[in-house]
Amino acid sequence: MNWSALEAAEVLARLDSDPAGLSGQEAERRRAEQGPNELERAAGPGLLRLLWAQLGSSLIALLLVAAALSLVLGETADAIAILVIVILNAALGFSQDLRAERAMAALERLAVPTVRVRRDGAVRELASTELVPGDVVLLEEGARVPADARVLQSVDLHAQEAALTGESEPVGKTAEVLPGGEEALGDRRNCLFMGTIVARGHGEAVVTETGMGTELGRIAGMLRDVKREPTPLQRRLTVFGRRLAIGAIGLVALVFAVGVVGGQDPELVLLTALSLAVAAVPEGLPAVATLCLALGGRRLLAREALIRKLPAVESLGSVTVICSDKTGTLTQNRMAVTVLDVAGDRLELPDAASALPAGRGGLALAEEQPSLALLVAAAALCNDALLDEGGGDEAIGDPTEAAFVLAARSLGFSKPELERRYPRVGELAFDSERKRMTTVHRLGGEGPLEAVLGPAAGGRIALEKGGVESVLDSCTAAWTGAGVEPLDDGLRERIDEAHEELAAAGLRVLGFAFRVLDDGVPDEELETELVFVGMMGLMDPPRPEVREAVERCRAAGIRPVMITGDHPLTARVVAERVGIDASAGVATGPELARATDEELDELCERVAVHARVAPEHKLRIVEALRRRGQVVAMTGDGVNDAPALKKADVGVAMGVTGTDVSKEAGDVVLLDDNFATIVNAVEEGRVIHDNIAKFIRYTLTSNAGEIWVMLLGPFFGLPLALLPLQVLWINLVTDGLPGLALAMEPAEKGVMSRPPRPMSEAFLTRGLLTQVLWVSLLMAAVSLGVGIFQAAAGADEAHWRTLVFTVLTFSQLGNVLAMRSTRDSLFRIGLFSNPFLLGSVVLTVGLQLVLIYWPPLQQLFRLAPLPAADLALACLLSTAVFAAVELAKWRERQIGT
Ligand code: ATP
Repeated sequence: MNWSALEAAEVLARLDSDPAGLSGQEAERRRAEQGPNELERAAGPGLLRLLWAQLGSSLIALLLVAAALSLVLGETADAIAILVIVILNAALGFSQDLRAERAMAALERLAVPTVRVRRDGAVRELASTELVPGDVVLLEEGARVPADARVLQSVDLHAQEAALTGESEPVGKTAEVLPGGEEALGDRRNCLFMGTIVARGHGEAVVTETGMGTELGRIAGMLRDVKREPTPLQRRLTVFGRRLAIGAIGLVALVFAVGVVGGQDPELVLLTALSLAVAAVPEGLPAVATLCLALGGRRLLAREALIRKLPAVESLGSVTVICSDKTGTLTQNRMAVTVLDVAGDRLELPDAASALPAGRGGLALAEEQPSLALLVAAAALCNDALLDEGGGDEAIGDPTEAAFVLAARSLGFSKPELERRYPRVGELAFDSERKRMTTVHRLGGEGPLEAVLGPAAGGRIALEKGGVESVLDSCTAAWTGAGVEPLDDGLRERIDEAHEELAAAGLRVLGFAFRVLDDGVPDEELETELVFVGMMGLMDPPRPEVREAVERCRAAGIRPVMITGDHPLTARVVAERVGIDASAGVATGPELARATDEELDELCERVAVHARVAPEHKLRIVEALRRRGQVVAMTGDGVNDAPALKKADVGVAMGVTGTDVSKEAGDVVLLDDNFATIVNAVEEGRVIHDNIAKFIRYTLTSNAGEIWVMLLGPFFGLPLALLPLQVLWINLVTDGLPGLALAMEPAEKGVMSRPPRPMSEAFLTRGLLTQVLWVSLLMAAVSLGVGIFQAAAGADEAHWRTLVFTVLTFSQLGNVLAMRSTRDSLFRIGLFSNPFLLGSVVLTVGLQLVLIYWPPLQQLFRLAPLPAADLALACLLSTAVFAAVELAKWRERQIGT
């Protein structure tokens, strides 16, 4: 259907809708009929694919070879047991992958953008998947168009349609009919298409098609197979795992050679070597990394940070600089006008308002205090916020603008009333580059503006508001109370002085200006030859939790940097209030723009407060900091912030005030727009990294322990210290369960009091390898030691092997408990602070006892029931590894402090 050839009213009629939108009930009915507004996607990797990934792994192949070999050797029971282990192993891996996959999918579902819709006569915010044909949507700059729609109203509405048409310039959109019925998408200037972006302006549109019915839906087949790329960490771990596997195979060959040379039965030795290969390959590594990242993503969500791109979690832990917007992130974005400055007079709100006689309207104010009336009328009219007409103390819209509407009301000016009298007939929307906006209104009749300005010749007036310097740039005159005078140096100085005084009090200051328009002033000249009226100062208190968050940053070696569009003095005062270091001064946007790359690098390294910054400067700041080796988190909310968000190591978008475009560009979305949440996210990033490192440390130690036992046994008269099944069991149970539980380890106490870990730091540090080496040797020593001793004392094979097997298993459990913290002792962090880990340890002990004492399994695993004294001995010996690791940590604490 080509809706562009129809009048807007006709489109609405055909869709059985109207400009006030659908009723909730009707929308519900349509949704039931048409399904949700989303593109069908390939449903994750799919269960079968996940299962196949497990079965197809080299590990399982090894196990299957071992099983086949057992069968050939006539060891049917062994073959079955190995197969059971194959299945268990695959099941464990599969459930791990599935959990990671589910957690990821859940995070992705949460990332669905919301959209403002007219329903039941009111404006509601809904998930874009809820839209149905006939819904009337409100679109603003930076929004992603949520469905195909026909434009009903357009204010400078422009859409960036490159995704669909390849046209890179934004296309202007109007509500007018195109009788020609343009066919090419790029020519349908009154239609909007799903997936494109509102690049500029705002408007309303009625949804014509949703989901797969949209133009994007038609080509969605092409998009379906989007593969999830592995994160850098996952890639590194895969490479690392492969190397280890190769090393392990070398070792296995060695074990085989030693066994055969030692005169062992070659078949049994081969089986053992294969089992050992299985044990040595750290197959769980990439999966655990994914699991840690995805679980971390869930924990982050509970702390109001939504992860959009998994790799960002890795960078989060290494962040060294957090560049944050001021308004809304460091401050509450609850603006209130506290000072008005007009024609040399200064008034404080709310005192000035309460001094006014009650019940008098704006006209009275215009007669008594004309300058003030002019300022207040400009503030209310050049304004997109809406007064809550229910009479509540609320105005809806941008908080800066809402504050002006409320201030005007307290002085007797109702915005809706003013707008009826002075309808808006044109506008130049606000943008962060110009830092100002202008609206044009029709004059006429006898209102407050006429009372002040006298009868107007042109019949139209332009009103402007914005940053004071920016407004002054478009002014050639100023209002002095008595009338209009040219803006000479004296007047300018007076305005600048007043402006600085207000800014130095930490207020956001906006200036106002007007121009009575002669006929025929073109739009591009609207912002010239204006008359400066005055200023208003807004108070925006810091968020109470920010001060502490800034301190936590410092302790964690992270530098907080403020970036704001406000005046340098305002920026400095607010920075000081929240504890950001302003001692090195404030850099301004124009300074940044002038600086060469070298100067910029130096400036950004030194200065922590940037003011009067435009979005393009943010990009330069990120680049400069990164050139100096910093790992940068950068916040942003507007369309123009997207490049900076993408460039930063961690792009942080605002969930409440942010545009869809910034959210899509960001790696993390703050659901509460709060600076403190960024710091929490960094903490979580560090925890995730720690846990992956712990898992690696633990797995390597356990695997190495098994290898030493098998490798060294023959030299001490214990040929085949463990049988193949026993090796597989240790590998499956002790590596698997407690290792996984390490992924759930809560934050260590000192995570936020140590410096950031360099991004390039490998997981395999020398310290880690040394630890792996000595702990695994110790493990092998106690396990083999008890075996050697018992064998020498005449114990039979089953008996001493059971002891070796049990001591090795229990030693690994001791190891996992001690490795929970890299620094603090288990007693300090508390045995119960990771219930999953404790549970898995208890379970493993239980299973081990079942194996030893339940005859069927006992026979299968060729174990002997241990007398109580031997069991006690095994337990006692196993504490050696725990004690040694704890002792090593204790020594490090002593050296460290
Ligand atoms: P911050 O950069 O501190 O987070 P912000 O995001 O609100 O604040 P911008 O939106 O870029 O910063 O605003 C920059 C400047 O533009 C403000 O200091 C103010 O002077 C002016 N300004 C902000 N909002 C408006 C508006 N609605 N109309 C006119 N001027 C505005």
